[in-house]
Amino acid sequence: MLAAPLAACSSRSDASGSSGGVQVVASFYPLAEAAQQVGGSFVSVDNLTAPGVEPHDLELTPQQIEAIDTADVVLYLGGGFQPAVEDALGDATGAVIDASASLRNLPVPAGESDASLTADPHVWLDPTLYQQIVDEVRGALSQADPAHAQAFTANADAYGRQLEQLDGEYRSGLGHCERSLIVTSHAAFGYLSARYGLTQEPISGLSPDAEPTPQHLAALKDLVEREGVTTIFTEELVSPKVAETLANEAGATTAVLNPLESLTPDEAGAGDDYVSVMRTNLATLRTALGCT
Ligand SMILES: [Zn+2]
Repeated sequence: MLAAPLAACSSRSDASGSSGGVQVVASFYPLAEAAQQVGGSFVSVDNLTAPGVEPHDLELTPQQIEAIDTADVVLYLGGGFQPAVEDALGDATGAVIDASASLRNLPVPAGESDASLTADPHVWLDPTLYQQIVDEVRGALSQADPAHAQAFTANADAYGRQLEQLDGEYRSGLGHCERSLIVTSHAAFGYLSARYGLTQEPISGLSPDAEPTPQHLAALKDLVEREGVTTIFTEELVSPKVAETLANEAGATTAVLNPLESLTPDEAGAGDDYVSVMRTNLATLRTALGCT
C-alpha cells in the first residue's frame, strides 16, 4: 500500500529544480494541504511525512534533509513537535516558515512525557486557527513568487470560505449536546475543545507514544462511568488496545476520531482531505455526545 504514494513522493522530489513553480517542503499533512490549496498549479509540494506515518518525532532521510536545504519554501510546525525537522533547518537556503508560531497558546500540561514540546502543537484541528495557517502560507508563497500573488490570494480566500463554513457546521453541530467530555487517544483535540466548548481527557499526553500509568487508567475509568461517557476515541495510526480495554471495563464503545496528523494511504487514495475528515469527525462527535 505504501509503494504508490512513496513513489509519487520521490518522483516529485527528483523533479525539484527542473519543474516549474515554487518548490515547497511541508513537514506534515496539514501544512502540505494548505500549500496545495493556496498554491494550486504554481507549486510543487513535498510532504516529509509519508501517508500513514505518525508525524510526532518524525525522522528524516538524507534525501529529505537535502530537500529542506534546497526548497524555495519550508513549512514546519515548531515548538518541539518534530525536532529532527527543526534541527535540519539551519542549512535551508529558501524561506523557512513556522506556520503556527503565534497560534500555539495552550501550555504543555503537567506530567507530559514529551520533554521537547514547549506548547500544545495541535492548532490545525481548530478550523479557525487552520485558516490563519493558510494565510501564513499565502504570505510565504506570495513572497517566494510575487508574480502569482493574486492567484494565491484568490485560492486562500476560496479555501478560507470552506473553513469558515466548516467552523459554522461545528458551532451549530455541537451547540446542543447531552455531554461535552471527550476521552481521546492522545491529547490532540485541545484547541478544538477550547473553540467549541468541549472538555478533553486524553489516555496519552500530547505525544501518542506515551504509555498511560495504571493510576491514570483507573481514574479515567471512574470518570467515564461517573460522567456517562459513551465513547472512547481511537486513532488509525495508534494502537487502539488501551482504549478498547478502557471501553470494555467502563461499558463504553470506541470510535475513530482522526487527529489529521497524516492521511492513511487509504484515505489519500479515496480523495479524503482536511475538510472531509473534519466533517467525519464532527459526525462522530455528535453521535458520541448526544447532540441534536
Ligand atoms: Zn499529536
